[in-house]
Amino acid sequence: MNFAIVGAGFSGAVIARELAEAGHKVTIFESRNHIAGNCHTERDAESDVMLHVYGPHIFHTDNEEVWKYVNQYSAFMPYVNRVKAVTGNRVFSLPINLLTINQFFNKTLSPNEAKEFIAQKGDSSITNPETFEEQALAFLGEELYEGFFKYYTIKQWGMSPAELPASILKRLPVRFNYDDNYFSHKYQGMPEHGYTVLVKNILDHDNITVHLNTEFNKSQAVEYDHVFYSGTLDGYFNYEFGRLPYRTLDFIKENHEGDYQGCAVMNYCDNSKPFTRITEHKYFSPWENHEKTVIYKEYSRECEPEDIPYYPIRQVKEKELLQKYVERANQEKGITFVGRLGTYRYLDMDVTIAEALKVARQFIQLTNEKKEIPSFFEQVV
Ligand SMILES: Cc1cc2nc3c(=O)[nH]c(=O)nc-3n(C[C@H](O)[C@H](O)[C@H](O)COP(=O)(O)OP(=O)(O)OC[C@H]3O[C@@H](n4cnc5c(N)ncnc54)[C@H](O)[C@@H]3O)c2cc1C
Repeated sequence: MNFAIVGAGFSGAVIARELAEAGHKVTIFESRNHIAGNCHTERDAESDVMLHVYGPHIFHTDNEEVWKYVNQYSAFMPYVNRVKAVTGNRVFSLPINLLTINQFFNKTLSPNEAKEFIAQKGDSSITNPETFEEQALAFLGEELYEGFFKYYTIKQWGMSPAELPASILKRLPVRFNYDDNYFSHKYQGMPEHGYTVLVKNILDHDNITVHLNTEFNKSQAVEYDHVFYSGTLDGYFNYEFGRLPYRTLDFIKENHEGDYQGCAVMNYCDNSKPFTRITEHKYFSPWENHEKTVIYKEYSRECEPEDIPYYPIRQVKEKELLQKYVERANQEKGITFVGRLGTYRYLDMDVTIAEALKVARQFIQLTNEKKEIPSFFEQVV
């Protein structure tokens, strides 16, 4: 069979490879001048530092199959994400752990003492928290909430935690030990030569053709047996019901000599700075040595039509709009919507890869059984 895939990010690349391995011909359309989608990495011309062009990407997963899959296409180097946070003109360790608590409150508490201490800080008058703010105040009390969550959330989402649902903070966001590994997955690492080389290796198959700088046009669909679409869902339908809202990010790049902040990620949690974080990219490749350095100051704002959509908003109103597009998409034949943009969800890379493997395999099975192919393989609303 002959397939079109729109987008050369992880979704498109993994589906393409599975279909190519099964003997089918695949043509990929990618509007950008590079593969790997938002995970694209390239070396900075001045410093030779590996840049995460669309923001830092750390691979972490509990999924054994996905970990083996990515390791087939690239060696992975050890990397543990340890985030620092500035608030009130002081530096702390994130996620909030025993070191953060002890330094923030100038104490030397043991795990059990800290548990009791934080429980006392929590606002016990809030018995049925409805908003993120109430939940955070109930769990942590005012000081930690204001220090680490309130202004960071306003900067990141353009909304006060008082307008966001309590469900965002499902569990107590605090560790009562000194574990400062940001992720708690079994596997974590960085592809040795960056994500773009990893994706290039996935795409390296005789049955796969990639067209860069090529926007997919809906009228081309008739030339193919099926289309897998990882572009924006609302964009495919020409925004006929209005735009699905996203947050976008501005990365202000600076080159410096030596070392800038001494770590990969520094969050700015209070309102003294307008950016959410600074990332220093050479620290994402700790096995390399560079005399110069590159930093990105990261600003979040509402996504305008010409911006890159990063984070779907997915509040009640947005989900209602999404539902309309999903119903519209379900009426289409010969196309499946995949990935973070095609399904309007935030997906980590490992989830993206797991879903893409599932889509390709189920597609092949349904085709063999001569069954209808759905527009979505996941529940998206
Ligand atoms: C700031 C940020 C940080 C992140 N950090 C992490 C992290 O640390 N760890 C992690 O696991 N995940 C992270 N992610 C998630 C990761 O970026 C996604 O999992 C991944 O990019 C999803 O891949 P995709 O192929 O679905 O989408 P994308 O990577 O967005 O690829 C879609 C591609 O389709 C192309 N396209 C769209 N429309 C068209 C069209 N009409 N014609 C032709 N081409 C088109 C686009 O140009 C794009 O290249 C992060 C995401 C963001 C926003």
